[in-house]
Amino acid sequence: MSGSTLKTKYKLKDYKSTVQPIWCPGCGNFGVLNALYRALEQLQLPPEKVAVISGIGCSSRLPGYMATYGFNGVHGRILPLATGVKMAHPDITVIGTGGDGDGFSIGIGHIPHAARRNIDMTYIVMDNEIYGLTKGQLSPTSPSGDVTKTSSYGSIDRPVEPISFMLSVGASFVARGYAGNLKHLSGLMVRAIRHKGFAFIDALSPCRTFCGLEQTKRLKAQVYYLDEESEDNPRDKREARDLITRETGFACGVIYKEVRPTYDALYREIREKAQSKGIPPIANIFQRYIPNGRGTMQNALIPENAS
Ligand code: SF4
Ligand code: MG
Repeated sequence: MSGSTLKTKYKLKDYKSTVQPIWCPGCGNFGVLNALYRALEQLQLPPEKVAVISGIGCSSRLPGYMATYGFNGVHGRILPLATGVKMAHPDITVIGTGGDGDGFSIGIGHIPHAARRNIDMTYIVMDNEIYGLTKGQLSPTSPSGDVTKTSSYGSIDRPVEPISFMLSVGASFVARGYAGNLKHLSGLMVRAIRHKGFAFIDALSPCRTFCGLEQTKRLKAQVYYLDEESEDNPRDKREARDLITRETGFACGVIYKEVRPTYDALYREIREKAQSKGIPPIANIFQRYIPNGRGTMQNALIPENAS
């Protein structure tokens, strides 16, 4: 882009790729995708300054529908990939998008580490309480008693509660939205992306094909919205925990928020401190492994000033 033609105003269409979503009619993922387009437009983020990282599942197709950078990774590995992108490119806005199966089953081991480190990114889980892509098996967030392809007599599992889990592992921004309320969900995304640190959104996103219209009706009836007047910390952790019992419905809004240093900022501080003591930047160390650069693997171990 030349200086004279530099865009100052991004439109919603600037975030859309030319690929048409192939989700089933009525899928909640459409709502999440459209909310994300709206949020990026509101934030006026240049598409080339955003990277959307996904795992595997219906919802993980999302980066393909974005005109930003994107990466459709392997199952459950959104957070390590997103962490790598953020550490290598701190100026990029990193957004992870995936499903409940990807995040809370195979990927659950990665969540506590991204959350406790406070990686500056937004992680949106499209929570449809089922494995959609593999045709309707019980997922970690399926309600007890749910009849699915793998629970013909009703699930005997107790579901993972994403909000409670995120609060306990130290996420610094925890929110819930509903794919059927675009305005509210895109507002949450704006706040999550603006937050400096690990921001999580549990986006309730019905799977029309494997959970039927019944699920959409149930979720619609169960969601309720928190009264939020302030951008600041809305409540303490104890109050946040009181909001998360699914028996009383799904509280939607920013449930918890705290401000603390991000991992990438702390890392940069340490790196500067090390460099001030003469330790070479890590890129210089890697340079030594490039044949015909400084040399071979073997002489990578020889100090630079050795003859
Ligand atoms: Fe959406 Fe379910 Fe269809 Fe997957 S199977 S695209 S989650 S409605
Ligand atoms: Mg799912």
